[in-house]
Amino acid sequence: MKKLIIKKGRERAFINRHPWVYSGAVQELPEAEIGEILSVYSFDNRLIGYGFYAPGTQIVCRVFEYTAEETDVLSQQYWTDKLGKAFVIRERFILSGQTNAFRLVNAEGDFFPGLIADVYNDTVVIQLLIKGTELIKDFIINALEEFGYKKVYLKAKDVTGRLEGVKTLKGWISKEEGSPEIEIVENGVKFQVNIETGQKTGFFLDQRDARMLIKEYSKGAKVCNTFSYSGGFSLYALEAGAELVHSVDSSKAAIELIDKNLELNGVKPEKHESYAEDVFKFLKKTENKYDLIVLDPPAFAKTAKAVPNASRGYKELNLTAFRKINPGGIVFTFSCSQKITRDLFRKIVFGAAADAKRNIRILHQTTQPPDHPINIYHPENEYLKGLVLYVE
Ligand code: SAH
Repeated sequence: MKKLIIKKGRERAFINRHPWVYSGAVQELPEAEIGEILSVYSFDNRLIGYGFYAPGTQIVCRVFEYTAEETDVLSQQYWTDKLGKAFVIRERFILSGQTNAFRLVNAEGDFFPGLIADVYNDTVVIQLLIKGTELIKDFIINALEEFGYKKVYLKAKDVTGRLEGVKTLKGWISKEEGSPEIEIVENGVKFQVNIETGQKTGFFLDQRDARMLIKEYSKGAKVCNTFSYSGGFSLYALEAGAELVHSVDSSKAAIELIDKNLELNGVKPEKHESYAEDVFKFLKKTENKYDLIVLDPPAFAKTAKAVPNASRGYKELNLTAFRKINPGGIVFTFSCSQKITRDLFRKIVFGAAADAKRNIRILHQTTQPPDHPINIYHPENEYLKGLVLYVE
């Protein structure tokens, strides 16, 4: 196996098990192909670990195993074990008769850079984010099969191709094929997911815990679920006895999904209305009075440069909700921009509260659920934060 050697004085990041090797930290780049698995060594020839190579990019290697012992990382057994270490968390704490959809592998969060694997009932949707995981795709498919998942669908992200020349593929990559339309259950609520045409891998699995929380505040409430996508928060609120729920999303396809999901769960039509509209416009013009508003927008800041504009967007959105909500109302507000830190998000919401001149208390602070674990050595993996607020 070819070696990548870390420069003298640059070992600190690797003692701290950070998974990314930046080009500046490398003493010697090997002659190897993009995606190849390399062993990583210190300048004084001690084995540090193993990683996927990506020459010519900023992050030249993504370490997936920190070890001082030689390990057969080119074997099926190794990858089956790795997947097993991710599966055990989900099997113990998430998978149940009530929930059969979850993230099985969360890339660096599961010490598996370059792989996202989302389970929808009996089907797994995978995203191969780097060339390294594309090259070991058969190990991944075989490992999934060992854990009982025979239907594997590949859904490439558009940016992947640009970054590392991964083929942008979409389609079944297992021997067995399934259907792109899958019914899942999450905390006892049913959803129809389309893995081919849906957003992300088909469903927003990362809000499962926050959806549970909304049930505690929904009984008898008039709820406005903005950026509703397929109606996750709406259906939980209805299940918990909300009087009326309005779902707002600019995507017509999302609204069609909500309609299917209402039907699947036997919701009475008079309990729910959908609006295929821009949330900012909707909230500003609506005459409706709500007891509970959910703000779960897409990532406004995809890059560090976008943070100031995104901050203004979050502030405006929260301010509008604070102006509209009934006294004694609840606002669930989220940001999934990785570049907007938890502290910054709280400052933005504070600014909106001050402008609204209302007394606001934080009742809960939410984060991503345990199937989106955060690798303690890789804080970059944390992206989702939320506040549940009581507005006097
Ligand atoms: N809360 C959802 C996930 C939200 S994802 C869930 O629990 O599943 C963000 C959604 O916002 C997407 O469905 C997207 O179509 C929608 N969206 C993005 N910009 C919008 C806008 N300006 N107005 C309305 N919807 C918007």
